[in-house]
Amino acid sequence: MKAQVLLPKIFNFSFTYNSNNISLKLGDIVEVPFGKNKEVGIVWKNQNTKLKDIKIKDIEKKIKDYSIDQKLINFIEWFSSYNMVPLGLTLKMAIGNKDNFTKKTDLEFNKSNKKIKKFKLNEEQNKAFEFLNLVKNKFDVSVLQGTTGSGKTLVYFERIKKIINKNKQALVLLPEIFLTNEFKSRFENFFGYEPAIWHSKITSKNKRIIWKGVIENKIKLVVGARSALLLPFKTLGVIVVDEEHDSSYKQDEGVIYNARDMAISRASFEKIPIHLVTSIPSLETYNNIQNKKFRHVKILKRFNDYPLPKTKIVNLNINKIKDKFISSETIDCVSKFLNRKEQVLFFINRRGYAPYLICKKCGFKHTCSNCSLHLTFHKKNNKAICHHCSLEKKIKNKCKEEGDCDFIMYGPGVEKILEEVKKIFPDNKVEIFSSDYMLKKKQTNTLFKKINNNEVDILIGTQMISKGFNFPKLNCVVVVDADFSGRGYDLRTTEKNIQLYHQLSGRAGRFSSESLIIYQTLTPEDHTLNELIQNKSEELLKTELIIRKKNHLPPFIRLIAIIISSNHHDLSIKGAKEIKLQLKKISNIEILGPVDSPLLRIKKKFRSRLLLRFKTGVLVQKKLTNLLNSLKISSKIKLTVDVDPVNFS
Ligand SMILES: [Zn+2]
Ligand SMILES: [Zn+2]
Repeated sequence: MKAQVLLPKIFNFSFTYNSNNISLKLGDIVEVPFGKNKEVGIVWKNQNTKLKDIKIKDIEKKIKDYSIDQKLINFIEWFSSYNMVPLGLTLKMAIGNKDNFTKKTDLEFNKSNKKIKKFKLNEEQNKAFEFLNLVKNKFDVSVLQGTTGSGKTLVYFERIKKIINKNKQALVLLPEIFLTNEFKSRFENFFGYEPAIWHSKITSKNKRIIWKGVIENKIKLVVGARSALLLPFKTLGVIVVDEEHDSSYKQDEGVIYNARDMAISRASFEKIPIHLVTSIPSLETYNNIQNKKFRHVKILKRFNDYPLPKTKIVNLNINKIKDKFISSETIDCVSKFLNRKEQVLFFINRRGYAPYLICKKCGFKHTCSNCSLHLTFHKKNNKAICHHCSLEKKIKNKCKEEGDCDFIMYGPGVEKILEEVKKIFPDNKVEIFSSDYMLKKKQTNTLFKKINNNEVDILIGTQMISKGFNFPKLNCVVVVDADFSGRGYDLRTTEKNIQLYHQLSGRAGRFSSESLIIYQTLTPEDHTLNELIQNKSEELLKTELIIRKKNHLPPFIRLIAIIISSNHHDLSIKGAKEIKLQLKKISNIEILGPVDSPLLRIKKKFRSRLLLRFKTGVLVQKKLTNLLNSLKISSKIKLTVDVDPVNFS
């Protein structure tokens, strides 16, 4: 008997083996010889491939106890064809590496018992909980929307408890790895044990333990980042996507996919409910709520009934002092909070000290030798750093005029704001909250402790701080440079700004009756800003949908980007032109480009882009995959396909 075996490798097809008289069924996990090595793969569907005249090898053995069920196999196929990712690579995300099977793991997942705190849902939460419970045992998408601080987490925890009590499994997806730390303690207080946390950076031993626990149906609840999506659950009962609007659900490198959308697909293959949780839904989700494709429930009040923060716009054009970024009006407001021993956050979405440094004498600018980008000056390590490829350069440079270059720094970054704040408030304790300062777990934990014990008065933070933290004493947020001009190469700039500022304001006043958000800006008249401060985020989404429809943009049409990269610019452009000619064979698609990427060169590669546009409801991926696979592509260029692209840089 012959059997097809799919291997967790780059191939988009399975290999034929002799079954060696082992009784096999679809989804069984087997060990097979492959090249000079042994590999673990799974018994796959018969693909009717014509057998070439080669010697067919025998399957070595079946790995007992484990198999992948039909629902996951179907999902793997869908995932591959939709995202145009080879089947084998998708399988790899589901079964991990060989160690899961060959290395012995005697350890079980540690479910050490902790003390459960008693929680009680308030009336609104209870109503939301009942709403989520309405649909059982079938595919259904519902959106749990609630103001920041409304206690949404508690609602879905209750929901999960109910599912687990029926002996089913549950998956919670979170957007950021580091979010899980704070989440962990809330989780433990509720469930009384540690969650099984899954993301790309956990140790391979922990991966083995969790993977095994999941496929053996012993672990009932996994909290994970994107990659948890393909774990081999046996009795999955519900998926929760927390902070569903978060753009980090879209993976931009390696296997490119949108984890929120794929979670919805997985739920549909598993025939189970999925809950999308957010304070302001993403535009796609908002559209689906309007179209009644998703059910929708909303919690309006904050958990402890504290009011939302007040807002204030500070016009930076008035009394502007050169090279100062904090206005006197802001200083007055902030002082009131500091005098009451409450915390203040200055938000500036730029790491480092200054984004540009230019020599006063010769005009020399530091640029990255790998990317078409200026380097950002980081005072902490006295280096100029590329925020794309992390290249570091020394600041010192021989001047074209004479001696060394004499640099001036333009624009603010967190480090520069830190300096200015320290000068304005010399008696207060100031800390930076940015990835450069939180490289180690210990650093991060110390900072969290200090903030929670009120040993910090002022925080200077980047975007990282907007994500789901609860700081009880933080009652005032200053947006140093509220900018809605929308430069950048992202069709979602407006949507992202709405999300960002909404999240940011949610950090303030979670336990206070008085809190304030100050927007310092050069464009105080801006429409988006003015709607935002009146808490009209949903109005903004509505307007944005109208604009998208008018301009033929998603979610009203679909896009696929093809990025052609090469060490030489002429090769990437030439390659793109040739591919475009071939793509014309596919009907019902519009092909835009080729154009140079706005960031032409990244990590030493020149990049040209094609953009395919087609109607929603049309699935062109299969045709496109077949066509691209049939092309003879020069080894000097590389193709990357991005289905439903978000980032156009
Ligand atoms: Zn670079
Ligand atoms: Zn110079």
